[in-house]
Amino acid sequence: MTRARAALLLGLLPFALAAIVLRAEGPLYVGGPPQSGSFPNGNPNSVPGGPYRWINDATHTPFPLTYWTDQGTLGVQTKAQADALVQAAFQAWQDIPTANISFTKAGDLGGNVTASNAIPVQNALYDCTTLPGDPAGGIAKPRTIIYDDSSGSIMIALGEDPNSILGFADTPCLESDGTYNYFTRGYAVLNGMFAVSDPVDLQAVMTHEFGHMIGLDHSQINVECLNGLGCSPDALAGLPTMFPTLVDGAAMSTPATDDIAGLSELYPDPSFNTSTGRITGHILFSDGVTPAQGYNVVVRQVDNPGTMQDESKIIAVSNVSGYLFTADAGNPLVQVNTPTFQTPSPFGWNDPAQMAQIGMFNVPGLPPGDYTVEVEKLDDSFTLGSGVGPIGTYLGFQFLMPGSCTTQFWNNSGSTVCEAPTPITVTAGSTTSGVDIILIGTPPRYDAWEDGP
Ligand SMILES: [Zn+2]
Repeated sequence: MTRARAALLLGLLPFALAAIVLRAEGPLYVGGPPQSGSFPNGNPNSVPGGPYRWINDATHTPFPLTYWTDQGTLGVQTKAQADALVQAAFQAWQDIPTANISFTKAGDLGGNVTASNAIPVQNALYDCTTLPGDPAGGIAKPRTIIYDDSSGSIMIALGEDPNSILGFADTPCLESDGTYNYFTRGYAVLNGMFAVSDPVDLQAVMTHEFGHMIGLDHSQINVECLNGLGCSPDALAGLPTMFPTLVDGAAMSTPATDDIAGLSELYPDPSFNTSTGRITGHILFSDGVTPAQGYNVVVRQVDNPGTMQDESKIIAVSNVSGYLFTADAGNPLVQVNTPTFQTPSPFGWNDPAQMAQIGMFNVPGLPPGDYTVEVEKLDDSFTLGSGVGPIGTYLGFQFLMPGSCTTQFWNNSGSTVCEAPTPITVTAGSTTSGVDIILIGTPPRYDAWEDGP
């Protein structure tokens, strides 16, 4: 796709990032320790380490998940055209056979969202005192899809730059009942200025934003496609819908192996765990002891020379180490106010007795085959609302040191290598655990970077 478009970002709500930390492959939000009060400052019934998702039962949100669309047009797209794209975008997630989630349009919003009423509509969505039920004001609904106009005026009213942000989504009013951490509301704003362009790209933006609405974080796989250089057709085919930047609408409209794994992990069909396998392990700093949070682990199927495709680029699933753990657990680079585990972050598992979990990764949804395991840093451009994983690239988080390599592999010799990974055979229903990678050429822990690299 075009150079300009490659720079456009698929964002989450940036202002939410002040209080909310991103997670990856899979859950966008993870429960923290129970705390008194209500969201966002507390959550007495939180399930620590449990992902937030929609719960399909009579006491939560029975599926199909209903949604409501804006009354106006989406840029140059008519309402009917926009509604059809929305339906197809939800359908892309619903069609994943190893996941159980479904959607249906309940109707239109209670009014046309415009620049003049966008802030009250957004405030109503975040006003959790009206739960359960509709947001106050009569326009917003529990799952609200907002169409912006051709000038991006709603984006501007909500503090977003319509020249760089294609859309954003969030799930206000996170709730817990001791058994589940669950969503009660979701919404997406679709940039109407962008909607003047190819509806295929618009389709990809919608699928991506709705992925956030059902609890998916961003994923980094085949990052060489980010700037369009060295991106093979197979790498493009394997690019996740949840990649933070729109690279190719046609490729990203259809969920990739990584998206399928992420959604199925949150909403598993019984076939998921019997038809696929998983690989788990830990990422450790060079001292071999200190768990390393925030590194991107990519499990790739070994290329089969008998086919015309490069499976290693197409069949790949990622996960960020420490994805279930609170972002500021013992990491001075991301600690906000205090040097203890009791920090302001209400999200993420936060048990000092489980320090090792800070470096844990868990890659599900692997079709049977042989796989390699690699670890890499997150791309520096994936920041704020385009972040990946629990800590992202926060505060200049560093990875490379002199003598290390950009991609490090697991090897059965017991050491991590820059080349010559050892394949792991994955069978249906299997879990291969203990795949631990000790990073090469890093300081022993984050503390070493306190004064910068
Ligand atoms: Zn996004």
